Amino acid sequence: MKVVVQKFGGTSVATEDARQRLVARVKHAMSEGLLVVIVVSAMGRGGEPYATDTLIELARKAHPEPDPRELDLLMSCGEIISTVVVSGTLRASGIDSVAMTGAQAGIFTDGAFGNSRIIRVDPKRIMEELDRHRTPVVAGFQGTTETGETTTLGRGGSDITAVALGASLGALSVEIFTDVDGIKTADPRVVPHARTIDRMSYDEISQMAHEGAKVIHPRAVEIAMRHNVPLRIRSTFDDAPGTLVSRTQGALAWPESRHYQVVTGITHVTDLCLVSLLNGTGAAPPITSVFRKLAEGGVSIDMISVSQSDCSFVIKEDVSDRTNRILKSLGLGVDLKRHCAKVSIVGSGMRGVPGVMANVAEALHDAGVGILQTSDSHVTISCLISHDNLHKAAQALHSRFGLDEASQQRGNQS
Ligand code: ADP
Ligand code: ASP
Ligand code: MG
Repeated sequence: MKVVVQKFGGTSVATEDARQRLVARVKHAMSEGLLVVIVVSAMGRGGEPYATDTLIELARKAHPEPDPRELDLLMSCGEIISTVVVSGTLRASGIDSVAMTGAQAGIFTDGAFGNSRIIRVDPKRIMEELDRHRTPVVAGFQGTTETGETTTLGRGGSDITAVALGASLGALSVEIFTDVDGIKTADPRVVPHARTIDRMSYDEISQMAHEGAKVIHPRAVEIAMRHNVPLRIRSTFDDAPGTLVSRTQGALAWPESRHYQVVTGITHVTDLCLVSLLNGTGAAPPITSVFRKLAEGGVSIDMISVSQSDCSFVIKEDVSDRTNRILKSLGLGVDLKRHCAKVSIVGSGMRGVPGVMANVAEALHDAGVGILQTSDSHVTISCLISHDNLHKAAQALHSRFGLDEASQQRGNQS
C-alpha cells in the first residue's frame, strides 16, 4: 500500500476556495496511484466561528479558568467540524471519503489535558477504510485516553497527528499544507523577505521549531525523525515544491555551501514576561523553594539566570498573574516586565565558532534594540527584547548572518 498523509492547516480548510485546492491536491495524489489519508485542523484563525481560539474564548466566557477536561472536549469540536465539511466537499467532487475523530482514527494519548502525548496509534480502522477505497479525513490535534476521555495535543498539534499516522501507516511521506510556501529563514510576518529553504535535516527544523518557528510542531518533527518519515512543508495556495525535511540530504539545492553556514534561521516567541526577584537570592525563602512552588503551580520557566545577588527568568504572559500571586505569597518582591519577545538565531553551524555572540550583540545594538536577558545552547543564541523591537531585531539578525542573500556561497558571518 502506497500511502501519503496530507495535513491541511486552519487557513487551508477555511474557505471554499481553499477546500477546492485541497480536493485538487488529493486528486493529484490519487492519480499517481497513492492512497491518501487527510488530517485537518480547525477552520480559520482566531475570531472565525470554529477556530480553536474562538472555542477557547467561548469556554472562558462560561468560566474564566475552564476545566481542562471540558476545554479539551470543546476544542476537539473545531477539528471535528472541519472533517465533516472537508469530507462533504470531497464526496461532492466524486471522492468517497469518511470523516473520523482522533479516537476513531486510533490515536491514543495519555491524560494530560491540553498537552497530551500520543502513546500509541492503532490504524486498523483507517486501513479498513482505505481497503474500501474510502479516503479518511481525520480530525487533527486530538486523541482519546484508554478510558475514553477526549484529549488535545497542544496548540499546533494537528502536525503531530499527521506525522504519527504517517509513521504508523508506513507512509511514503507526510505533506504539511499551510499558508506559506515552506520553511523559511524567518517568519515572513516578521521578516517579509525571508527565504524558503529547499531542504533541511530533521535536526535543523527541530531546532527551529523548538525555538518558536510555528510552521511545524516540534513533536511532529521528533516523531518524523524517529521513524524516518520524510516531511514536505508546502503551500496549499501555490505549486511551489516547499521544503523537504528528510534524513538523506542528497544534493542540496540551497544553500549550496551549507557546511559554511553558521545560522539556519531566525525564530521568535512572543507574549513573554521577564520576572525579576527584587530581594535577590539571599532573601528567605531559599531559591529552591521559589522554583518548587512555581513548578507546583504549573508555571514553566525559561531563560533562567541565578547569581548570588539576582534571580530572573521568563514566563509566558498568560501565567504572569498566577506567578505574581505565588511569588507574593512567599513574601518576595517581584518586578514583572510584560510585553517581551524572544528572538533567536538557530544553526548547527555555530557550534564552537567564535564571534557569533559578538555579531548578535553588534547587530542588535546597531538596530537600537536593547537586550534584556540572553540564553544559549550549542546551536542557539536567544535574546529577550521588548516586543516593540521584534521586527527590527529579527531583520537585523537576518541580515547580519547573511540570510538575506540569494546565495550562501561564502557562508554567513561568524
Ligand atoms: P497551519 O494552520 O497551516 O498549521 P500555522 O499558523 O500553524 O499554520 O503555521 C504557519 C505560519 O507559521 C505561517 O503563516 C508563518 O507566519 C509562521 N512561521 C513562523 N516561522 C516560520 C518559518 N520559519 N517559516 C515559515 N513560516 C513560519
Ligand atoms: N487547531 C489547533 C490549534 O489552533 C491545532 C492545529 O491547528 O494544529 O492549535
Ligand atoms: Mg500549525
